[in-house]
Amino acid sequence: MRIDKLLANSGFGTRKEVKKMLKTGVVKVDGVAIKDPKTQVDPDAQTVTVNEDRVEYKEFVYLLMNKPAGYLSATEDEVQETVIDLLQMEDAVCQPFPVGRLDKDTEGLLLLTNDGHLSHQLLSPKKHVPKTYFADILGEVTNEDIESFRRGVELDDGYVTKPAILEILTSGDSSTIHVTITEGKYHQVKRMFESVGKKVTYLKRISMGPISLDEDELKTGEYRELTEDELESLR
Ligand code: URA
Repeated sequence: MRIDKLLANSGFGTRKEVKKMLKTGVVKVDGVAIKDPKTQVDPDAQTVTVNEDRVEYKEFVYLLMNKPAGYLSATEDEVQETVIDLLQMEDAVCQPFPVGRLDKDTEGLLLLTNDGHLSHQLLSPKKHVPKTYFADILGEVTNEDIESFRRGVELDDGYVTKPAILEILTSGDSSTIHVTITEGKYHQVKRMFESVGKKVTYLKRISMGPISLDEDELKTGEYRELTEDELESLR
């Protein structure tokens, strides 16, 4: 890849800033000063240094975020804040994007990566990756609802959902539940409850496939890199 791209993606500034830096001769590849931004380098086979400090280049970044309400699951928006605004500069430069979407008012587990292949795999309808949510529901969730979700419910557009597992945690005039779905239709959980005459008043994703949110470790709005084991489990 081009040296200016590698340096920009590693957090050394914009392409323009990197170009300026290259001109000063502080960048070396295998000990030789490089000034031409178009120079091709292989970050796996060659050693790139800036002021004699080695540049650790990572092609892909994999982040696990505990998304707060109020942020869009998008990379940019002209008016509203997006989950990318919650990232540190050194992670944002890798240009990660959210793997799927959570609604603006939904909280919880959100993966972000710049690995299009993995993202595609996790979102593929063929993969049926289970996603579990915790929700507060206005209305009494019943065993009948469990059965309806197991069979599949008809959404407002006529689509019948794939079997989902509904677990009642507390039940009364309002209820708390866990629900596991294997699809990702627009507003799916909210629309599933609408179809049985109830309203989701709070929604949080707590797991996606083998990855679970540990809220003692990751507070709302925080994020961390996936561990090697977590990444392997997703592949
Ligand atoms: N279902 C919803 O209704 N909203 C989400 O954000 C995720 C699943």
